[in-house]
Amino acid sequence: MDHTKINLVVRLQHLDNQIESIISLQRGLPEEIKALEEDIAFTSRQIEAREKVAEEQHKTREKLNETIENCKAKIKSFKDKQTLARNNKEYDALSKQIEYEEKEIAQAEIKLQDILHNEEKAQELQDQGRQLIAENRYDEISEEMMPDDVLAQQLKDLKNQVEQKKEELESIIVETSEEVNSLKKQIAEQRKIVEKEAKRLLSKYDHLKNGNIQNALVRLHRQACSGCNTRVPTNRHTIIVQGGFYLCESCGRIVVHERLFEEAAAEDK
Ligand SMILES: [Zn+2]
Repeated sequence: MDHTKINLVVRLQHLDNQIESIISLQRGLPEEIKALEEDIAFTSRQIEAREKVAEEQHKTREKLNETIENCKAKIKSFKDKQTLARNNKEYDALSKQIEYEEKEIAQAEIKLQDILHNEEKAQELQDQGRQLIAENRYDEISEEMMPDDVLAQQLKDLKNQVEQKKEELESIIVETSEEVNSLKKQIAEQRKIVEKEAKRLLSKYDHLKNGNIQNALVRLHRQACSGCNTRVPTNRHTIIVQGGFYLCESCGRIVVHERLFEEAAAEDK
């Protein structure tokens, strides 16, 4: 068996491991940022929906007030005309018009009351929410119970948090970029060599990686595959000790002697 082939793949795994350990320095920050951004979008949507309702209520209220003012002006003019009425028929006709305008006013006032009622109801729910917050009973709070100011504060806090996390991640990326770029270059070069010298092993290696197994190539540890802890048959130990490899029957990983990893690490400049 040509042992140098496996050494080339061990070196590749060694380099891939280094990139992995740098990425792990990001400590799940990309995922945290994503989750925070989802929370921000959700909270923003809630706030926007409330603003839209408030704006519509404001517009409707203005329109209704305008209607009432118009009706009042008309009533005033009808009443003025009544004082000049020449006969009962004219007078009664004006009374009917006044009555119509009064009905219009009454209808508009009912609608205004409805708006006020809805606003009060929303306010009551928010007061209830505030009380639940004070009592730490967060899971009993419905969306509409969340007070406006708490929601605004929540959005502000979330935005601050995501900014901080992004800065943190950015600085890690900047700090490690040189190392990552150098490793990527070394990996590309190493892959070329492995491709030429040990194509079959590389395709085995890539097949495992594509199946989301980052440590496609692992050490023999306590006579077992350190990827899945399945014991390696005794009759295969010799070949491993001699610098060969074994394909784990359980997980398919490539198992080698620890020494090979040490040798691969020794190549680091
Ligand atoms: Zn295994």
